[in-house]
Amino acid sequence: MGFDDIAGNARIKAVLRRTLGRGRLPHALLFVGPPGVGKRRTALALAQALNCLERADDACGRCPSCRTIADGRHPDVLEIIRPQVRKNGVEETRSSLGIVQFRELKQWAGLRPLSGKRRVFIWDVGLMSDDAGHAILKVLEEPSPSSTFILLSENPDLVLPTIKSRCQRLVFASVASEEIERILLRRGCPEERARTIALLVRGDLDRALEEDWDLAEKRRAEAWAAFSGLVDGRGGADFIRRWALPRRTKEAREGLAEEIELFRAFSRDLVLLQEAGEPGRLLNPDFETGLSELAGRLAPGTGLRLVEAFDRALTGLERRLNTGLLVSALAARMIG
Ligand SMILES: [Zn+2]
Repeated sequence: MGFDDIAGNARIKAVLRRTLGRGRLPHALLFVGPPGVGKRRTALALAQALNCLERADDACGRCPSCRTIADGRHPDVLEIIRPQVRKNGVEETRSSLGIVQFRELKQWAGLRPLSGKRRVFIWDVGLMSDDAGHAILKVLEEPSPSSTFILLSENPDLVLPTIKSRCQRLVFASVASEEIERILLRRGCPEERARTIALLVRGDLDRALEEDWDLAEKRRAEAWAAFSGLVDGRGGADFIRRWALPRRTKEAREGLAEEIELFRAFSRDLVLLQEAGEPGRLLNPDFETGLSELAGRLAPGTGLRLVEAFDRALTGLERRLNTGLLVSALAARMIG
């Protein structure tokens, strides 16, 4: 897997290729960005490039070294994990790479490569305990000439400043939904589903690839029922009950954002049908009958007004405005 096999973040890939080509890659890097944007995949490609037998500025993906790293069997490419790392309450067992516990880090980091050119340590730092921070700091203070550290973080504010200052930071951006859609299509996902999933995951490519497609279809059908109810002036109370009152958890906010994203896609289709009459480019072609019926019945300009309302709601969610107020205001605006 070379850098070109990773979606999005072209600038970061160019920077890495350039520094690798000049042989000037810093010994510690910090990859920052939202979940699912390819931080770990890029770290793996970088580990391959550093050890590739064919190329200096990228991974060829074919040489024995590249292949062993891809299989997670290279003795010099290691993932650092903490005991009992938990994600969503589940014991983290995702790593397919060789594993080092951070307590043994110093020992490991000082070793010369066992079979490759460089030892590469990959660490999703997450919430860093003092112990872990201390261990990594010690290693970064006295870098070994033959080791590279790649730290991954969703939130740079959670990384100790003393660690940040010793790393070159690269900020990853979300992957564009068109690019996610293209990748899903290439993997044989049916076109409408690819489009829906790309909309739902809001730039998280990992989630797009793991998404349960049947569930996504079900969610879209539910969103359509809620959407058509709301614009018809019924269903407001139900919408508020579902989203305004319950928990203010991150999951609830994400669920709401997903539903609004789907509403926005229905409205965008309404705009096309109301203004341009171009059903060929609908985001939800399988809902065309219902959408056309709505488009004919609603006042001209309704689609545009709705798209604006959803944009405003999504911005509000990003700014962490009060969900209750946001949902009530949105319901009122939708009924218009
Ligand atoms: Zn190679």
